[in-house]
Amino acid sequence: DESDWTALDAELAEEAEDDTVPLPVLAIVGRPNVGKSTLVNRLIGRREAVVEDVPGVTRDRVAYAAEWSGRGFMVQDTGGWEPDAVGLQKAVARQAETAMAEADAILLVVDATVGATATDEAFARILRRSKTPVLLVANKVDSSRVEADAAALWSLGLGEPHTVSAIHGRRTGDLLDLILDTLPETPRDTAAPVGGPRRVALVGKPNVGKSSLLNKLSGGEISVVHDVAGTTVDPVDTLVELGGSVWRFVDTAGLRRKVRQASGTEFYASLRTRSAIDAAELAILLIDASQPITEQDLRVLSMVADAGRALVVVYNKWDLVDEDRRYELDREIDREMHRVPWAQRVNVSALTGRAVQKLVPAMETALESWDTRVPTGRLNNWLKEVVAATPPPMRGGRLPRIMFATQAGTRPPTFVLFTTGFLEAGYRRFLERRLREEFGFAGSPVRISVRMRE
Ligand code: GDP
Ligand code: GDP
Repeated sequence: DESDWTALDAELAEEAEDDTVPLPVLAIVGRPNVGKSTLVNRLIGRREAVVEDVPGVTRDRVAYAAEWSGRGFMVQDTGGWEPDAVGLQKAVARQAETAMAEADAILLVVDATVGATATDEAFARILRRSKTPVLLVANKVDSSRVEADAAALWSLGLGEPHTVSAIHGRRTGDLLDLILDTLPETPRDTAAPVGGPRRVALVGKPNVGKSSLLNKLSGGEISVVHDVAGTTVDPVDTLVELGGSVWRFVDTAGLRRKVRQASGTEFYASLRTRSAIDAAELAILLIDASQPITEQDLRVLSMVADAGRALVVVYNKWDLVDEDRRYELDREIDREMHRVPWAQRVNVSALTGRAVQKLVPAMETALESWDTRVPTGRLNNWLKEVVAATPPPMRGGRLPRIMFATQAGTRPPTFVLFTTGFLEAGYRRFLERRLREEFGFAGSPVRISVRMRE
């Protein structure tokens, strides 16, 4: 098949290039059973058109390509609905906040035949503060008889309820027109900034030791740099010289001044964390090792992983960790941190300075992985071997064929696989594991998109 591959090379590489042109993103949120999946399928006009996902990171959160009136956009099914694990309120907040941070427009879907439930109201309460435009969709309006009921949904305070029947396609064309009117032509810019000293976001829930660590890093023998030739220093950032390089710790004004979060709600603290992550190339996530890992730690972790930034997880307050706690912590890490098995890990004490010097090598490794580009030839030789040894599972009686892979981008490494046939999530995760075994990428997320050709 060698010649086959080469022939496809140029054409597919060009197509992969197109793939990297970002499209605006529409996020679909709402409680279970309101018809979100049905609506997603209606909007994209077909089934199972999996275009992009982030294996092992956002679990099965998937974005689908849609097109209407000649314009393309992505439909992001925010999924991740696990109210049992995290509690209903938290699941609502997580879904809504992710949508507000990542999407260019949001659809809140409610079931018009049921009316506004407490959960719908919880969504609306958060989304009313959204700077991202929100459209309220009243689904299951299968006939004009239900139309009148939908008017009650004005009470959610999100403007006009747009009635549709996702299952029958009733008024979904009107909704698509409205979506195109609402979405910007180009997506919001979530790319990490380029150039100058490497940018670091020091993040973690309150009291894990962020300001202590920053003080440790910038105090004593390590000097705070006030100016670097050719760079303007944002006063909210701190420049620190570590391991012979200058690093820009972004948005540290609050940490330096020891401003307590007392004034802001968790919501605003989380927006601030999000914007620091967006401004950074690398995130250092601090976790208090002396305390159990909490949902709040995991929310910050998700933000970093979803944003595609390089990651070092710092387990701080190691001076308080005894033998028993260490054992428990290992089990918590196995249970809670499995989404980022690739993260760099360092155990430190910001108080005593223990192992703080291990931080820089971990940061450098993570950024190196984040910047890595694998040559197409090497990638395809590897792919051929892996697929020959372990072919993808049959699907609908057919063996999907993986024809070609190319790395479409870095920061983080992003790969496109060209296939005939659907690759199951399990197999995509298998490929990611093998990719990491072969090429490393320690400390960096890796993205794999699948381009299916009929
Ligand atoms: P999700 O959990 O929000 O993704 O909801 P689903 O898309 O899985 O739909 C939940 C149920 O509502 C399914 O049984 C669908 O067939 C049904 N459903 C979805 N849209 C409509 C609709 O427009 N009208 C009616 N009558 N049922 C619908
Ligand atoms: P921030 O809210 O994340 O910036 O956390 P702070 O740096 O303000 O630290 C919160 C508390 O934890 C303070 O009382 C610190 O003295 C304490 N702390 C920070 N790092 C360590 C550490 O490594 N060991 C111990 N024992 N305490 C620490």
